[in-house]
Amino acid sequence: MGSVFDRNGHQANQRAKIIVGLERLSTLFRAALWEEAKQYNLSPLQVQILLFIAFHDTKQCSVTAIAREFAVTKATISDAVKVLLEKDLLKKNTGDDARGFLLTLSATGSKYTGKLSGVSDFFQASLDNVPQVEINKIWEGMLLLIGHLQETEIIPMRMCHNCRHFGKEHPGGNPHFCNLMQKPLAVENIRLDCPEHAAFQTATS
Ligand code: SF4
Repeated sequence: MGSVFDRNGHQANQRAKIIVGLERLSTLFRAALWEEAKQYNLSPLQVQILLFIAFHDTKQCSVTAIAREFAVTKATISDAVKVLLEKDLLKKNTGDDARGFLLTLSATGSKYTGKLSGVSDFFQASLDNVPQVEINKIWEGMLLLIGHLQETEIIPMRMCHNCRHFGKEHPGGNPHFCNLMQKPLAVENIRLDCPEHAAFQTATS
């Protein structure tokens, strides 16, 4: 089979075109992130780290967890974090954990993060005028796609379909159900990066 990036060869192959579409979308996201980052003299990864720390529990904010989140090495995250500490945008919290430290935003980092909305504004502006019926289709397609791709386990998704609280075809559901919140989960209520997500226990965990 030829490369999916061979545009003469892939046009009759929908799976190949989905892969090319993913590449185009990730490039678009990266370009928006670069635009944002350069305004603040940060790298795109540093922007992602600040936003992750701003909106996740401190216990999820170790160098190891952040490296897994962005599918890069711990050394790469450590280098980015070093710069953010030097710029007084982050603080180290040693807490009770002798194995390492957890990261939180400093007061300056919190102010900075409040301004980092360019990436979401860019996409929001494009989606604002999309009719709800199309938004529903996009969300359903995205859920399907993520559902299939999450099996790769390259990055954590923290979504309903891989959560211990997810009740498939629950009698009270619609057709699904969150057993933690005791609420039906219609397609539009399925969560991505849910704060209450609980991973399945593995034999080694
Ligand atoms: S806890 Fe969150 S991720 Fe888990 S099923 Fe409920 S809503 Fe979905």
